[in-house]
Amino acid sequence: MNNPERNKFYITTPIYYVNDKPHIGSAYTTIAADCLARLHRQLGEEVHLLTGTAEHGNKIAQSAEAAGKDPQEFVNEVSAKFSLAWDTLGIAPDDFIRTSEERHVKAVIEFFKKLKESGKVYEDDYEGLYCIGCEAFKKESELVNGLCPLHNKAPEVVKERNWFFKLSDYGAILTEKIEDGELIIAPNSRRNEILSFIKQGLEDIAISRQNAKFAIPLPWDESQTIYVWLDELFNYCSAIGYESNKEQFNKFWPADIHVVGKDIIKFHCIIWPALLLAIGEKIPAKVFANGFLTVDGQKISKSLGNAIDPVELAQKYGSDAVRYFLLREIPFGQDGDVSEEKLKARYNGDLANGLGNLVSRLTNMVEKFLDGDIEQYIASPKDLSEVFNDFSSLNFSEGLNKIWAEIAWANQLIDKSKPWDLYKTDPAKVEELLINLVALLYDIAIKLAPIMPETADKIRKIIEADKIVKAEPLFAKIE
Ligand SMILES: [Zn+2]
Repeated sequence: MNNPERNKFYITTPIYYVNDKPHIGSAYTTIAADCLARLHRQLGEEVHLLTGTAEHGNKIAQSAEAAGKDPQEFVNEVSAKFSLAWDTLGIAPDDFIRTSEERHVKAVIEFFKKLKESGKVYEDDYEGLYCIGCEAFKKESELVNGLCPLHNKAPEVVKERNWFFKLSDYGAILTEKIEDGELIIAPNSRRNEILSFIKQGLEDIAISRQNAKFAIPLPWDESQTIYVWLDELFNYCSAIGYESNKEQFNKFWPADIHVVGKDIIKFHCIIWPALLLAIGEKIPAKVFANGFLTVDGQKISKSLGNAIDPVELAQKYGSDAVRYFLLREIPFGQDGDVSEEKLKARYNGDLANGLGNLVSRLTNMVEKFLDGDIEQYIASPKDLSEVFNDFSSLNFSEGLNKIWAEIAWANQLIDKSKPWDLYKTDPAKVEELLINLVALLYDIAIKLAPIMPETADKIRKIIEADKIVKAEPLFAKIE
Protein backbone atom coordinates (compact mmCIF):
# COMPACT_ATOMS: atom_id res chain seq x y z
CA MET A 1 0.00 0.00 0.00
CA ASN A 2 2.95 2.26 0.65
CA ASN A 3 4.32 1.59 -2.81
CA PRO A 4 1.41 1.16 -5.22
CA GLU A 5 3.65 1.78 -8.23
CA ARG A 6 6.05 -0.96 -7.21
CA ASN A 7 3.41 -3.26 -5.78
CA LYS A 8 5.85 -4.66 -3.24
CA PHE A 9 5.64 -4.84 0.53
CA TYR A 10 8.75 -5.48 2.61
CA ILE A 11 8.00 -6.14 6.27
CA THR A 12 10.34 -7.15 9.06
CA THR A 13 10.23 -8.27 12.70
CA PRO A 14 13.12 -7.71 15.08
CA ILE A 15 15.65 -10.52 15.03
CA TYR A 16 15.54 -12.32 18.34
CA TYR A 17 18.39 -13.12 20.70
CA VAL A 18 19.06 -16.82 20.79
CA ASN A 19 19.91 -16.85 24.50
CA ASP A 20 16.54 -18.42 25.32
CA LYS A 21 13.55 -20.06 23.60
CA PRO A 22 10.84 -17.80 22.07
CA HIS A 23 8.52 -16.17 24.61
CA ILE A 24 5.02 -14.73 24.29
CA GLY A 25 6.33 -11.19 23.62
CA SER A 26 8.38 -12.15 20.56
CA ALA A 27 5.52 -14.38 19.37
CA TYR A 28 3.16 -11.40 19.66
CA THR A 29 5.32 -9.14 17.48
CA THR A 30 5.93 -11.88 14.92
CA ILE A 31 2.26 -12.91 14.70
CA ALA A 32 1.28 -9.28 14.03
CA ALA A 33 3.88 -9.00 11.26
CA ASP A 34 2.68 -12.28 9.74
CA CYS A 35 -0.95 -11.07 9.75
CA LEU A 36 0.07 -7.86 8.00
CA ALA A 37 2.12 -9.83 5.46
CA ARG A 38 -0.83 -12.16 4.77
CA LEU A 39 -3.15 -9.18 4.30
CA HIS A 40 -0.84 -7.61 1.71
CA ARG A 41 -0.44 -10.95 -0.10
CA GLN A 42 -4.23 -11.21 -0.20
CA LEU A 43 -4.32 -7.71 -1.74
CA GLY A 44 -2.08 -8.94 -4.54
CA GLU A 45 1.22 -7.34 -3.55
CA GLU A 46 4.61 -9.01 -3.74
CA VAL A 47 5.32 -9.46 -0.04
CA HIS A 48 8.61 -10.22 1.65
CA LEU A 49 8.31 -11.06 5.36
CA LEU A 50 11.65 -11.27 7.14
CA THR A 51 12.35 -12.58 10.62
CA GLY A 52 15.40 -14.23 12.12
CA THR A 53 17.80 -14.58 15.02
CA ALA A 54 20.61 -12.42 16.45
CA GLU A 55 23.56 -14.64 17.22
CA HIS A 56 26.47 -12.39 18.16
CA GLY A 57 27.67 -10.84 21.40
CA ASN A 58 28.85 -11.52 24.92
CA LYS A 59 25.38 -12.34 26.17
CA ILE A 60 25.11 -15.28 23.79
CA ALA A 61 28.64 -16.43 24.54
CA GLN A 62 27.66 -16.43 28.24
CA SER A 63 24.42 -18.34 27.65
CA ALA A 64 26.28 -20.94 25.61
CA GLU A 65 28.84 -21.33 28.38
CA ALA A 66 26.10 -21.70 31.00
CA ALA A 67 24.52 -24.44 28.86
CA GLY A 68 27.94 -26.12 28.56
CA LYS A 69 27.89 -25.84 24.79
CA ASP A 70 30.04 -24.56 21.98
CA PRO A 71 28.58 -21.16 20.95
CA GLN A 72 27.84 -22.16 17.34
CA GLU A 73 26.21 -25.42 18.41
CA PHE A 74 24.20 -23.49 21.01
CA VAL A 75 22.93 -20.85 18.56
CA ASN A 76 22.07 -23.50 15.98
CA GLU A 77 19.85 -25.27 18.50
CA VAL A 78 18.08 -22.17 19.78
CA SER A 79 17.62 -20.67 16.32
CA ALA A 80 15.94 -23.90 15.20
CA LYS A 81 13.55 -23.56 18.17
CA PHE A 82 12.49 -20.14 16.90
CA SER A 83 11.90 -21.43 13.41
CA LEU A 84 9.81 -24.31 14.73
CA ALA A 85 7.86 -22.04 17.10
CA TRP A 86 6.88 -19.72 14.26
CA ASP A 87 5.76 -22.68 12.21
CA THR A 88 3.61 -23.94 15.10
CA LEU A 89 2.01 -20.48 15.35
CA GLY A 90 1.09 -20.39 11.66
CA ILE A 91 3.76 -17.78 10.88
CA ALA A 92 5.11 -18.08 7.34
CA PRO A 93 8.16 -15.85 6.77
CA ASP A 94 9.63 -15.54 3.27
CA ASP A 95 13.12 -15.52 4.76
CA PHE A 96 14.75 -16.30 8.09
CA ILE A 97 18.09 -14.55 8.59
CA ARG A 98 20.70 -15.61 11.12
CA THR A 99 23.45 -13.10 11.87
CA SER A 100 26.03 -15.88 12.01
CA GLU A 101 25.40 -16.62 8.31
CA GLU A 102 28.06 -15.67 5.78
CA ARG A 103 25.59 -13.66 3.65
CA HIS A 104 25.01 -11.43 6.67
CA VAL A 105 28.62 -11.15 7.84
CA LYS A 106 29.86 -10.21 4.35
CA ALA A 107 27.17 -7.55 3.97
CA VAL A 108 27.93 -6.05 7.40
CA ILE A 109 31.60 -5.73 6.46
CA GLU A 110 30.63 -3.89 3.23
CA PHE A 111 28.32 -1.67 5.23
CA PHE A 112 31.07 -0.75 7.70
CA LYS A 113 33.54 0.02 4.91
CA LYS A 114 30.97 2.44 3.46
CA LEU A 115 30.39 3.92 6.89
CA LYS A 116 34.14 4.58 7.28
CA GLU A 117 34.22 6.27 3.85
CA SER A 118 31.34 8.54 4.88
CA GLY A 119 33.71 10.54 7.08
CA LYS A 120 31.26 10.22 9.97
CA VAL A 121 33.47 7.82 11.92
CA TYR A 122 36.32 8.65 14.36
CA GLU A 123 38.39 7.00 17.09
CA ASP A 124 38.28 8.06 20.73
CA ASP A 125 38.64 6.93 24.32
CA TYR A 126 35.44 6.06 26.03
CA GLU A 127 34.28 5.39 29.51
CA GLY A 128 30.72 4.34 30.09
CA LEU A 129 28.30 2.06 31.86
CA TYR A 130 27.49 -1.03 29.82
CA CYS A 131 24.56 -3.37 30.47
CA ILE A 132 25.34 -6.74 28.94
CA GLY A 133 21.64 -7.71 29.13
CA CYS A 134 20.79 -4.80 26.83
CA GLU A 135 24.12 -4.99 24.96
CA ALA A 136 24.07 -1.20 25.24
CA PHE A 137 25.72 1.70 27.03
CA LYS A 138 23.47 3.32 29.62
CA LYS A 139 23.31 6.91 30.81
CA GLU A 140 23.23 7.54 34.59
CA SER A 141 19.78 9.05 34.05
CA GLU A 142 18.51 5.78 32.57
CA LEU A 143 19.40 3.76 35.70
CA VAL A 144 17.14 3.15 38.69
CA ASN A 145 19.07 2.92 41.98
CA GLY A 146 22.19 2.30 39.92
CA LEU A 147 20.60 -0.69 38.16
CA CYS A 148 19.44 -1.22 34.60
CA PRO A 149 15.64 -1.13 35.01
CA LEU A 150 15.14 -3.82 32.35
CA HIS A 151 17.59 -6.28 33.88
CA ASN A 152 17.79 -5.27 37.55
CA LYS A 153 21.56 -5.48 37.28
CA ALA A 154 24.34 -2.95 37.80
CA PRO A 155 25.99 -2.12 34.47
CA GLU A 156 29.75 -2.66 34.13
CA VAL A 157 32.10 0.30 33.99
CA VAL A 158 33.78 -0.01 30.61
CA LYS A 159 36.82 2.06 29.69
CA GLU A 160 38.26 1.45 26.27
CA ARG A 161 39.35 2.89 22.95
CA ASN A 162 36.48 2.70 20.43
CA TRP A 163 35.35 3.88 17.05
CA PHE A 164 32.46 6.33 17.05
CA PHE A 165 29.71 7.41 14.67
CA LYS A 166 28.74 11.09 14.54
CA LEU A 167 25.09 10.55 15.41
CA SER A 168 25.09 14.11 16.79
CA ASP A 169 25.08 15.40 13.19
CA TYR A 170 21.68 13.86 12.44
CA GLY A 171 19.22 15.48 14.88
CA ALA A 172 17.88 18.15 12.51
CA ILE A 173 17.54 15.93 9.44
CA LEU A 174 15.83 13.13 11.40
CA THR A 175 13.38 15.59 12.95
CA GLU A 176 12.57 16.93 9.50
CA LYS A 177 12.01 13.47 8.04
CA ILE A 178 9.78 12.42 10.94
CA GLU A 179 7.77 15.66 10.79
CA ASP A 180 7.40 15.41 6.99
CA GLY A 181 6.14 11.85 7.28
CA GLU A 182 9.05 10.43 5.29
CA LEU A 183 9.68 8.30 8.37
CA ILE A 184 6.39 7.36 10.01
CA ILE A 185 6.61 6.31 13.65
CA ALA A 186 3.54 4.74 15.21
CA PRO A 187 1.72 4.79 17.54
CA ASN A 188 1.82 8.56 17.94
CA SER A 189 3.03 8.33 21.56
CA ARG A 190 6.23 6.66 20.31
CA ARG A 191 6.66 9.35 17.62
CA ASN A 192 6.45 12.04 20.31
CA GLU A 193 8.93 10.13 22.49
CA ILE A 194 11.46 10.00 19.64
CA LEU A 195 11.00 13.67 18.67
CA SER A 196 11.53 14.82 22.24
CA PHE A 197 14.55 12.55 22.66
CA ILE A 198 16.15 14.07 19.56
CA LYS A 199 15.32 17.56 20.83
CA GLN A 200 17.47 16.97 23.95
CA GLY A 201 20.47 16.59 21.64
CA LEU A 202 21.91 13.38 20.18
CA GLU A 203 25.27 12.07 21.37
CA ASP A 204 27.75 10.21 19.19
CA ILE A 205 27.68 6.45 19.60
CA ALA A 206 30.36 3.78 19.86
CA ILE A 207 30.25 1.46 16.85
CA SER A 208 32.93 -0.98 17.99
CA ARG A 209 33.98 -2.82 21.13
CA GLN A 210 37.26 -4.14 22.43
CA ASN A 211 37.46 -7.75 23.58
CA ALA A 212 33.90 -8.66 22.67
CA LYS A 213 33.48 -12.36 22.09
CA PHE A 214 31.58 -13.86 19.21
CA ALA A 215 31.30 -10.71 17.08
CA ILE A 216 32.41 -9.52 13.62
CA PRO A 217 35.89 -7.90 13.46
CA LEU A 218 35.95 -4.26 12.36
CA PRO A 219 37.30 -4.30 8.77
CA TRP A 220 39.90 -1.52 9.27
CA ASP A 221 40.91 -2.28 12.87
CA GLU A 222 41.03 -5.95 13.79
CA SER A 223 41.63 -5.18 17.46
CA GLN A 224 37.95 -4.18 17.58
CA THR A 225 34.69 -5.94 16.88
CA ILE A 226 31.54 -4.41 15.46
CA TYR A 227 29.06 -3.36 18.11
CA VAL A 228 26.43 -6.11 17.95
CA TRP A 229 23.41 -3.83 17.79
CA LEU A 230 24.60 -2.24 14.55
CA ASP A 231 25.51 -5.64 13.11
CA GLU A 232 21.96 -6.75 13.95
CA LEU A 233 20.16 -3.71 12.54
CA PHE A 234 21.84 -4.34 9.23
CA ASN A 235 20.04 -7.71 8.90
CA TYR A 236 17.18 -5.84 7.22
CA CYS A 237 19.53 -5.04 4.33
CA SER A 238 21.82 -8.07 4.33
CA ALA A 239 18.90 -10.53 4.08
CA ILE A 240 17.56 -9.06 0.84
CA GLY A 241 20.95 -9.06 -0.87
CA TYR A 242 22.75 -5.80 -0.01
CA GLU A 243 26.07 -7.42 -0.79
CA SER A 244 25.06 -10.43 -2.90
CA ASN A 245 21.93 -9.61 -4.92
CA LYS A 246 21.60 -5.93 -5.88
CA GLU A 247 18.55 -6.59 -8.05
CA GLN A 248 16.57 -8.05 -5.18
CA PHE A 249 17.87 -5.39 -2.81
CA ASN A 250 16.72 -2.58 -5.09
CA LYS A 251 13.36 -4.24 -5.51
CA PHE A 252 12.54 -4.49 -1.81
CA TRP A 253 14.53 -1.73 -0.10
CA PRO A 254 13.49 0.47 1.64
CA ALA A 255 11.43 -1.53 4.11
CA ASP A 256 7.75 -0.60 4.10
CA ILE A 257 7.50 -1.35 7.80
CA HIS A 258 9.70 -2.52 10.66
CA VAL A 259 7.50 -4.02 13.41
CA VAL A 260 9.40 -3.76 16.71
CA GLY A 261 8.91 -3.82 20.48
CA LYS A 262 8.71 -0.40 22.12
CA ASP A 263 11.96 -0.99 24.04
CA ILE A 264 14.04 -0.84 20.85
CA ILE A 265 12.58 2.18 19.05
CA LYS A 266 15.59 4.45 19.61
CA PHE A 267 17.72 1.99 17.69
CA HIS A 268 15.15 1.78 14.88
CA CYS A 269 13.96 5.39 14.66
CA ILE A 270 17.23 7.27 15.35
CA ILE A 271 20.40 5.19 14.99
CA TRP A 272 19.23 3.02 12.09
CA PRO A 273 17.98 5.81 9.78
CA ALA A 274 21.06 7.94 10.61
CA LEU A 275 23.40 5.09 9.62
CA LEU A 276 21.46 4.56 6.39
CA LEU A 277 21.66 8.27 5.55
CA ALA A 278 25.43 8.17 6.22
CA ILE A 279 25.95 5.39 3.67
CA GLY A 280 23.57 6.99 1.15
CA GLU A 281 20.71 4.49 1.44
CA LYS A 282 16.98 5.16 1.71
CA ILE A 283 15.41 5.04 5.14
CA PRO A 284 12.49 2.76 6.09
CA ALA A 285 8.99 4.12 5.47
CA LYS A 286 7.53 3.17 8.83
CA VAL A 287 8.42 1.85 12.27
CA PHE A 288 5.55 0.48 14.37
CA ALA A 289 6.18 -0.35 18.02
CA ASN A 290 4.00 -2.79 19.92
CA GLY A 291 3.56 -2.53 23.67
CA PHE A 292 4.67 -4.83 26.48
CA LEU A 293 2.67 -7.81 27.66
CA THR A 294 2.15 -8.70 31.29
CA VAL A 295 0.81 -12.01 32.60
CA ASP A 296 -1.88 -11.66 35.28
CA GLY A 297 -0.76 -8.08 35.78
CA GLN A 298 2.88 -9.06 36.42
CA LYS A 299 5.93 -8.38 34.30
CA ILE A 300 6.88 -11.61 32.52
CA SER A 301 10.00 -13.12 34.03
CA LYS A 302 11.56 -16.49 34.37
CA SER A 303 12.23 -15.94 38.06
CA LEU A 304 8.52 -15.29 38.75
CA GLY A 305 7.72 -18.46 36.83
CA ASN A 306 4.78 -16.73 35.15
CA ALA A 307 6.07 -16.99 31.59
CA ILE A 308 3.47 -18.55 29.31
CA ASP A 309 4.80 -20.56 26.42
CA PRO A 310 3.23 -19.55 23.09
CA VAL A 311 4.04 -22.94 21.55
CA GLU A 312 2.28 -24.85 24.36
CA LEU A 313 -0.75 -22.57 23.97
CA ALA A 314 -0.84 -23.21 20.21
CA GLN A 315 -0.63 -26.96 20.77
CA LYS A 316 -3.52 -26.84 23.24
CA TYR A 317 -5.86 -24.27 21.61
CA GLY A 318 -4.66 -24.19 17.99
CA SER A 319 -2.50 -21.55 16.35
CA ASP A 320 -5.46 -19.56 15.02
CA ALA A 321 -6.89 -19.19 18.53
CA VAL A 322 -3.60 -17.84 19.90
CA ARG A 323 -3.25 -15.41 16.96
CA TYR A 324 -6.85 -14.25 17.38
CA PHE A 325 -6.55 -13.88 21.15
CA LEU A 326 -3.38 -11.77 21.12
CA LEU A 327 -4.59 -9.40 18.41
CA ARG A 328 -8.18 -9.08 19.72
CA GLU A 329 -7.36 -8.77 23.41
CA ILE A 330 -4.99 -5.78 23.24
CA PRO A 331 -5.15 -2.81 20.85
CA PHE A 332 -1.87 -3.21 18.96
CA GLY A 333 0.64 -0.62 20.13
CA GLN A 334 -0.63 -0.48 23.72
CA ASP A 335 0.58 -2.45 26.73
CA GLY A 336 -1.72 -5.26 27.73
CA ASP A 337 -2.29 -8.18 30.03
CA VAL A 338 -2.59 -11.80 28.92
CA SER A 339 -3.17 -15.11 30.68
CA GLU A 340 -4.28 -18.58 29.78
CA GLU A 341 -7.60 -17.87 31.57
CA LYS A 342 -8.24 -14.92 29.26
CA LEU A 343 -7.32 -16.98 26.22
CA LYS A 344 -9.69 -19.75 27.33
CA ALA A 345 -12.54 -17.24 27.84
CA ARG A 346 -12.10 -15.89 24.31
CA TYR A 347 -11.72 -19.39 22.91
CA ASN A 348 -14.96 -20.68 24.46
CA GLY A 349 -16.88 -17.42 24.06
CA ASP A 350 -15.83 -15.82 20.77
CA LEU A 351 -14.63 -18.89 18.90
CA ALA A 352 -16.65 -21.92 20.06
CA ASN A 353 -19.94 -20.15 20.93
CA GLY A 354 -19.59 -17.33 18.41
CA LEU A 355 -18.00 -18.22 15.09
CA GLY A 356 -18.00 -22.00 15.56
CA ASN A 357 -21.67 -22.07 16.53
CA LEU A 358 -22.65 -19.92 13.55
CA VAL A 359 -20.83 -22.22 11.13
CA SER A 360 -22.31 -25.42 12.52
CA ARG A 361 -25.97 -24.28 12.83
CA LEU A 362 -25.92 -22.53 9.45
CA THR A 363 -24.45 -25.50 7.57
CA ASN A 364 -26.87 -27.79 9.41
CA MET A 365 -29.86 -25.73 8.17
CA VAL A 366 -28.56 -25.47 4.62
CA GLU A 367 -28.24 -29.26 4.55
CA LYS A 368 -31.71 -29.80 6.05
CA PHE A 369 -33.76 -27.12 4.29
CA LEU A 370 -31.94 -26.54 1.00
CA ASP A 371 -30.54 -30.01 0.51
CA GLY A 372 -27.04 -28.54 0.78
CA ASP A 373 -27.50 -26.76 -2.50
CA ILE A 374 -26.68 -23.06 -2.58
CA GLU A 375 -25.59 -20.58 -5.24
CA GLN A 376 -21.91 -19.73 -5.22
CA TYR A 377 -21.28 -16.46 -3.55
CA ILE A 378 -18.19 -14.37 -4.23
CA ALA A 379 -17.45 -11.51 -1.85
CA SER A 380 -17.17 -8.08 -3.37
CA PRO A 381 -14.03 -6.17 -2.37
CA LYS A 382 -16.15 -3.22 -1.24
CA ASP A 383 -17.48 -5.21 1.69
CA LEU A 384 -13.96 -5.95 2.86
CA SER A 385 -12.33 -2.54 2.71
CA GLU A 386 -13.31 -1.29 6.15
CA VAL A 387 -11.87 -4.22 8.07
CA PHE A 388 -8.84 -4.43 5.78
CA ASN A 389 -8.14 -0.74 6.41
CA ASP A 390 -8.15 -1.45 10.13
CA PHE A 391 -5.75 -4.36 9.67
CA SER A 392 -3.44 -2.48 7.32
CA SER A 393 -3.04 0.28 9.89
CA LEU A 394 -2.31 -2.45 12.49
CA ASN A 395 -5.61 -1.74 14.20
CA PHE A 396 -6.20 -5.47 14.49
CA SER A 397 -8.50 -5.39 17.52
CA GLU A 398 -10.82 -2.85 15.85
CA GLY A 399 -11.11 -4.92 12.67
CA LEU A 400 -11.82 -8.06 14.72
CA ASN A 401 -14.43 -6.19 16.78
CA LYS A 402 -16.27 -5.41 13.54
CA ILE A 403 -16.14 -9.02 12.35
CA TRP A 404 -17.41 -10.31 15.71
CA ALA A 405 -20.24 -7.77 15.68
CA GLU A 406 -21.36 -9.39 12.39
CA ILE A 407 -21.06 -12.87 13.88
CA ALA A 408 -23.19 -11.86 16.87
CA TRP A 409 -25.74 -10.22 14.56
CA ALA A 410 -25.99 -13.37 12.42
CA ASN A 411 -26.46 -15.62 15.46
CA GLN A 412 -29.16 -13.32 16.83
CA LEU A 413 -30.93 -13.20 13.49
CA ILE A 414 -31.14 -17.01 13.46
CA ASP A 415 -32.46 -17.00 17.04
CA LYS A 416 -35.11 -14.41 16.18
CA SER A 417 -36.20 -15.86 12.81
CA LYS A 418 -36.65 -19.40 14.16
CA PRO A 419 -36.07 -21.04 10.74
CA TRP A 420 -37.19 -24.45 12.11
CA ASP A 421 -40.73 -23.11 12.66
CA LEU A 422 -40.73 -20.65 9.76
CA TYR A 423 -39.89 -23.39 7.26
CA LYS A 424 -43.33 -24.98 7.85
CA THR A 425 -45.16 -21.84 6.70
CA ASP A 426 -42.71 -19.91 4.48
CA PRO A 427 -39.87 -22.03 3.04
CA ALA A 428 -38.97 -19.30 0.48
CA LYS A 429 -38.24 -16.89 3.31
CA VAL A 430 -35.97 -19.43 4.99
CA GLU A 431 -34.15 -20.00 1.73
CA GLU A 432 -33.52 -16.26 1.33
CA LEU A 433 -32.32 -15.96 4.93
CA LEU A 434 -29.89 -18.85 4.60
CA ILE A 435 -28.47 -17.63 1.28
CA ASN A 436 -27.81 -14.21 2.82
CA LEU A 437 -26.20 -15.70 5.90
CA VAL A 438 -23.94 -17.99 3.88
CA ALA A 439 -22.87 -14.95 1.84
CA LEU A 440 -22.09 -13.10 5.06
CA LEU A 441 -20.10 -16.06 6.39
CA TYR A 442 -18.10 -16.23 3.17
CA ASP A 443 -17.24 -12.54 3.56
CA ILE A 444 -16.21 -13.16 7.15
CA ALA A 445 -13.89 -15.99 6.08
CA ILE A 446 -12.12 -13.72 3.58
CA LYS A 447 -11.77 -10.93 6.11
CA LEU A 448 -10.45 -13.33 8.76
CA ALA A 449 -7.90 -15.01 6.51
CA PRO A 450 -4.89 -12.83 7.45
CA ILE A 451 -5.48 -13.37 11.18
CA MET A 452 -6.87 -16.93 11.26
CA PRO A 453 -5.65 -18.55 8.04
CA GLU A 454 -6.54 -22.17 8.90
CA THR A 455 -10.06 -21.36 10.08
CA ALA A 456 -10.74 -19.11 7.09
CA ASP A 457 -9.60 -21.85 4.77
CA LYS A 458 -11.88 -24.43 6.44
CA ILE A 459 -14.92 -22.16 6.19
CA ARG A 460 -14.28 -21.35 2.54
CA LYS A 461 -13.94 -25.02 1.68
CA ILE A 462 -17.20 -25.84 3.47
CA ILE A 463 -19.06 -23.15 1.49
CA GLU A 464 -17.36 -23.86 -1.83
CA ALA A 465 -18.16 -27.61 -1.70
CA ASP A 466 -20.66 -28.96 -4.26
CA LYS A 467 -22.99 -29.75 -1.43
CA ILE A 468 -22.98 -28.06 1.98
CA VAL A 469 -23.30 -30.48 4.88
CA LYS A 470 -23.34 -29.90 8.62
CA ALA A 471 -19.77 -28.94 9.55
CA GLU A 472 -17.73 -30.58 12.27
CA PRO A 473 -17.22 -28.15 15.19
CA LEU A 474 -14.37 -25.75 14.32
CA PHE A 475 -13.56 -25.18 17.98
CA ALA A 476 -14.30 -27.91 20.53
CA LYS A 477 -15.13 -26.30 23.86
CA ILE A 478 -12.41 -26.54 26.51
CA GLU A 479 -13.59 -26.75 30.14
ZN1 LIG B 1 19.85 -3.91 30.66
